[in-house]
Amino acid sequence: MAIDAELLKQSERYLLEFVGPRAAILDQNPQALRDALHGLGELNLLALRGPTESRRKSVDELTFCTFQEQVARYSGALAFLQTQHQSAASMLANSSNQRLREVYLPYLSAGKILLGIGFSQLRRPGDPAVIAMPMDDGSYQISGEVPWITGYGCFEEFIVAAVLPDKRILFGLMPLESAIQTHGGEIKLSHPMPLAAMASTNTVKARIVDWIIPETYIVSIKPADWHQKRDQSKVLNHSFFALGCAQAGLDVLGAGQSDSLPFIPPILKSLAAELETCRTAIYKAQQTSDNPEIDRLQLRAWAIDLAVRCAHAAVTASRGAANHLNHPAQRIYREALAFSVFGQTTAVMEATLKQLVKSNGAQRPQKKSKAEKGKGKSP
Ligand SMILES: Cc1cc2nc3c(=O)[nH]c(=O)nc-3n(C[C@H](O)[C@H](O)[C@H](O)COP(=O)(O)OP(=O)(O)OC[C@H]3O[C@@H](n4cnc5c(N)ncnc54)[C@H](O)[C@@H]3O)c2cc1C
Repeated sequence: MAIDAELLKQSERYLLEFVGPRAAILDQNPQALRDALHGLGELNLLALRGPTESRRKSVDELTFCTFQEQVARYSGALAFLQTQHQSAASMLANSSNQRLREVYLPYLSAGKILLGIGFSQLRRPGDPAVIAMPMDDGSYQISGEVPWITGYGCFEEFIVAAVLPDKRILFGLMPLESAIQTHGGEIKLSHPMPLAAMASTNTVKARIVDWIIPETYIVSIKPADWHQKRDQSKVLNHSFFALGCAQAGLDVLGAGQSDSLPFIPPILKSLAAELETCRTAIYKAQQTSDNPEIDRLQLRAWAIDLAVRCAHAAVTASRGAANHLNHPAQRIYREALAFSVFGQTTAVMEATLKQLVKSNGAQRPQKKSKAEKGKGKSP
C-alpha cells in the first residue's frame, strides 16, 4: 500500500502552523493540549489504526509511523497523548464486540469520543497488579492498581488490562474519573502526577476495588503472553517518537547558527546525517518485521540515544537561555527523558544502557600531544 502523502501533508501543515508555535504552552497547560488534540480530531487523524467514516481501512504502517514522528517533532506531549487514543481506537476497531464497535467507532477519528489506556502494569514482574474475576452473568469484577493512565480530564474512559485466573488478559472499558457503583465497586484516581516532562498530559494512577465491567463493555480477551509478544514484535513503535524528538533538537540547533559560531554547522550536519541513517534503518526494519537478522532493540536504543544527544546539543547551543521554562531546548531535553522510558521492557532498558557505553566509550578525551598541550596554555 502506498504512503498517504496527502494525509501527511495535511498533518504537517497543522503541526507547523498551530502546534509548533504553541509547544511550550502545550507542555504545561492541559486545556491547551486538549484543544490541540481536538485540532487533530477536526482533521480526522485520531483513529489512523482503524476504519472510519471517511476511510474503510487503517492507514498503512509507513504513514502511521511518519505521522507519529511528525507529531513528536512539534510537541512531545501531544504525541504521547494522541497515541494513547490511537491505541484504544485500534483495539476497538479489532474488537469482536459488535455493539462496542457500533457505539464507539464512528466517533473516534474526529475525537468526539476520546479514550485512554492502562496496560503497562502487564509488563511488571510478580503478581498481577490488576485482576479480573469472571461473574456468573458474563460480567467481570476488576481489582488492583493501574500505575499509569494518561489523559485525565481529556479522555472520558480508558481501556483497562486485567489478568484472569487462567492468566489470559481481559481488556474492558472503565470511566477515567473517580466513581462508585451501586453495589460498592469503586475506581479512585490519584491527582495528576507532578511530572518533569509532559505534565500537561494529566497522568494519574487508579485504585480499583471490585469494579464490575458488564459483558457489553468488554473489548477483548487475549492470551497470557499477548503483551510480551506485542512488545517483541512492535519493539520499534516507540522509536518514531525518539526520531521526532531528535529532529526537534536539531531544529533548535539549526536556528542557533551564527557567523560567530562556525563549529555549529559541521556538528549539525554530522548529527543530521546520523539521524537520517538511523531513520532509514528503522523505517526499513519496520517494513520487514519478519526479518530476524535485524537487531530492532539496538535500533530503538540508537534512536533514544540520538534523541538525548540532539536535545543536549540544542541545550548547549542555546546557552543559559536553555534554562528558561519556555525555551524549546529544555522542553525537548525533558521529552527525550520521557521517550527514553515509554513502553520500556527489560530488554529495551538493557539495550538503551549498552548503547550509552558504546557511544561514550569511543569518545573519551584522548591524551593531548606535547604540541597540543603548548597550544592550549593560557598566557
Ligand atoms: C508520564 C507517563 C505516562 C504514561 N502513561 C501511560 C498510559 O496512559 N497508559 C499506559 O499503559 N502506560 C503509560 N505509561 C507507562 C509507560 O509506557 C512505560 O510502561 C513505563 O514508562 C515504564 O515505566 P514503569 O515505571 O512502569 O516500569 P516497569 O514497567 O515497572 O519496568 C520497565 C521494565 O523493566 C522490567 N523490570 C522492572 N523491574 C525489574 C527487575 N527487578 N528485574 C528485571 N526486570 C524488571 C519490567 O518487567 C518492565 O519490562 C506512562 C508512563 C509515563 C512515565
